[in-house]
Amino acid sequence: MKFVLLGPPGSGKGTQAKKLAKKFEIAHISSGDILRSEVSRDTALGKQVKQYMDRGEIGPQELITEVILNYISGNCPFGFVLDGFPRTRYQAKKLEEKFDIVAAILLDVPEDEIIKRITGRRTCRDCGRIYHVDYNPPENDGKCDACGGELFLRSDDTEETVRNRMKVYYEETMPVIEFFEKKKVLHRVVGTGEQEKIFGEILHIV
Ligand code: AMP
Repeated sequence: MKFVLLGPPGSGKGTQAKKLAKKFEIAHISSGDILRSEVSRDTALGKQVKQYMDRGEIGPQELITEVILNYISGNCPFGFVLDGFPRTRYQAKKLEEKFDIVAAILLDVPEDEIIKRITGRRTCRDCGRIYHVDYNPPENDGKCDACGGELFLRSDDTEETVRNRMKVYYEETMPVIEFFEKKKVLHRVVGTGEQEKIFGEILHIV
């Protein structure tokens, strides 16, 4: 079970990847979460990628690809669902050289919806659960329903950075969609509407 979830920032990749990973007891690999953890621990890698993340740009390609591919090799005995990786054609090729991807699922969401979603997004610092201040608020302001952890706004979830991340997505990640299309493993899912309905469509594909 080796899946890739594709889509613009804020398309619901993280939410759906978590559901899929839980359902099939496979690993959820979010390159953004891995890199954010490196930044917050102030590691050598964290120091190198921080400035790129703050600007919403692709970090040093070869280094990040090596880190993520090694992470997959060491942590996924039963399969994986990738979220945020691959983000460029280079990364897609490197991934394919090592692993057979059975399905790449693209969540389609229009750009104006993305901006609304991302600027209202809040993430739990402890368990990573994702909320939205209007569409999916927690029961208690600023606290995670699942674990009580503090909810925070990602520093790259501001409107200006989101616009840059969208630009990067169109320029760098669109070729990844074509890459999987050519391999005949690409599936498109409408990424708006009820989370459960979207998940149902993903399960149908899987
Ligand atoms: P995400 O959480 O997927 O939105 O990623 C947040 C930020 O981490 C991105 O804007 C990039 O700066 C960096 N990042 C995440 N995944 C990758 C990747 N596969 N390659 C390069 N940079 C990445």
